[in-house]
Amino acid sequence: MGFQKVTWNFLEAGHGKGPADGVGAAIKRQADAIVAQGIDIPNGKVLYEKLRDQPSSVQLMYVTEEEIERMDSVLPEDLITIKGTMQIHQIVSTRPGDISWRVLSCFCSEPQICQCFGLQHVEQPGAQRAQRPESALGPPIPTLKSQDITLLHEGLIGSWCVVRYDGNPYTGLIQDVNSENGALVKTMSRIGKNRWYWPMNDDIIWYQPEDVLRLVPEPQPVTKRHMMLDPLVWEEVLTEFDCE
Ligand SMILES: [Zn+2]
Repeated sequence: MGFQKVTWNFLEAGHGKGPADGVGAAIKRQADAIVAQGIDIPNGKVLYEKLRDQPSSVQLMYVTEEEIERMDSVLPEDLITIKGTMQIHQIVSTRPGDISWRVLSCFCSEPQICQCFGLQHVEQPGAQRAQRPESALGPPIPTLKSQDITLLHEGLIGSWCVVRYDGNPYTGLIQDVNSENGALVKTMSRIGKNRWYWPMNDDIIWYQPEDVLRLVPEPQPVTKRHMMLDPLVWEEVLTEFDCE
């Protein structure tokens, strides 16, 4: 899929996993609260839909049975079994079919892969052959260009967005979010069509939730001083405004 390198790092089973446990517990509490309101949660789909409608910074994804089966069908038949997977806490791979693993994670020689903690290695010839058949994985996922903001939450802090000020669009970075005041956004100034620059003095004010319109990808530099939003994104933004 174009990744240069991947590493999976597994936390110790049953030991204080802090944030990961916290997220699980928060979701469980929310689900309990929904049931306590007399709403039934008979399956995963309903759980996902109900939780998705709750204000939360936890990002949820629903994986269907078919998606799991589609992935299964892509796996080659002749995969080599790696013994003792319960002991493994780090897996590293730099190309398809090549897997290294060890009992503890180590990053001491990044971006090089070190040999610490008895790094072991195996080639999975079958996995190298397993390309990415589009038919098996379904239609390609469309690139997310920009995204409506329906609900402001703390997870959006640090994201690029477009706000409305005095009837005009401004792009900027979300600094803070507050359920009553909306979002604190540091905006760029615009010159001409879709040319943006940071003003001499920071432009940071609170915007009402209805004026915080869309999440957008980070603007890209076009000259030394100016940046631009992806033209398609800018077009999407303009459909909500009467300007050029
Ligand atoms: Zn190391």
